[in-house]
Amino acid sequence: MIPYGRQSISEADIIAVSKALRGEFLTTGPLVDEFESLLTNYLDTPTFVVSSGTAALHCAYAAIGLKPGDEVITPPLTFIATQATAALLGATVRFADIDSETGNINPKEVAKLINKKTRAVVAVDYAGHPAELRELKELTSSNDIVLIEDAAHSIGSKYHGQRIGGIADITTFSFFPTKNMTTGEGGAVSSPHPELLERAKKFSRQGLVRDKNKFILNDEGDWHQEVHEFGLNYRLPDVLCALGISQLAQIEAFKKTRELVFSEYLNYLNDISGLQLPIKRNYADPMWHLFPIRVPTTLRKRLFNELRRNQIGVQVNYLPAHLQPVFSRKGFKWGDFPIAEDFYRREISLPMHTNLEMLDTDYFKKVSGVIEEVLADS
Ligand SMILES: *Cc1c(COP(=O)(O)O)cnc(C)c1O
Repeated sequence: MIPYGRQSISEADIIAVSKALRGEFLTTGPLVDEFESLLTNYLDTPTFVVSSGTAALHCAYAAIGLKPGDEVITPPLTFIATQATAALLGATVRFADIDSETGNINPKEVAKLINKKTRAVVAVDYAGHPAELRELKELTSSNDIVLIEDAAHSIGSKYHGQRIGGIADITTFSFFPTKNMTTGEGGAVSSPHPELLERAKKFSRQGLVRDKNKFILNDEGDWHQEVHEFGLNYRLPDVLCALGISQLAQIEAFKKTRELVFSEYLNYLNDISGLQLPIKRNYADPMWHLFPIRVPTTLRKRLFNELRRNQIGVQVNYLPAHLQPVFSRKGFKWGDFPIAEDFYRREISLPMHTNLEMLDTDYFKKVSGVIEEVLADS
């Protein structure tokens, strides 16, 4: 089965990790600083690393002091981590429906939800295509709200020529194996605001304060460190940073391959009627994480099963978050966010990764053949 997403591990990655294992540090060591400074350089924005994309989101919400009574506005079409980490801090999750073309949160819908309790608007760059960040920033900055970008899909993407990472107030990344680059489990947080970034980082390191000038207890010895606000252990170990450093060195090559796969899909699938292909807005330079197609609702399940039967490991991204039982039991239901629901009911993610089997003409012929055959019945 060709998986919908899969890591691409090179000999260089294996050597880098082995070298780290032979070294002195397993967890906090020099490779953490090195990976962070390479990411800072690549994203052109100060960045620190954490143990997952979920952890990164939790740090972002903690950094803004999200608490019960606060509201965050999120898109329904995302992985539940976007909402879970805010809900666990006691915040109320609101949903703004998506743009039917990109799958990204619709700024017009966001505008309708902003009120005195709103603390953050969260954009997800669905499939790697950047959200409408300018429009969203206008809304958030004029209302003194934080714009958080869940860029789990979009490291390597650009928006109006600028790399994702330095545009929103806080951007979070995931290095899960199916994402654009991997550390096994891992993630990162970037922000152009030093204070926000510092607060987020402290949360990921148990809340520990080590700067003498900031101590409240002044009579302790050199061993002393103190905690002013609770944090968690979201550190990314040195060994995984070794993999991250090696993966980051390949990211532009990964991006080229993903672009190639994307354009091959377009070539082979363009003429199939009843099939809706992903689009790219002219200001976007995506590093494609997914290749989401849409088909008539009545044929979605059949096509999904037929592709899997042909060893094509498709996936569906995502059941809209408001329909997850954890939200529906609070009263959310089908019909609440019709555009996200329609997107979901028609969506299938075709395999998208950088392994060799993706670059075989026979592969694309096979995919288009199966799709054509099932859609012929529409
Ligand atoms: C993968 C993903 C996350 C969570 O990242 P993990 O590293 O798996 O914790 C969050 N948001 C989105 C949109 C994702 O796709």
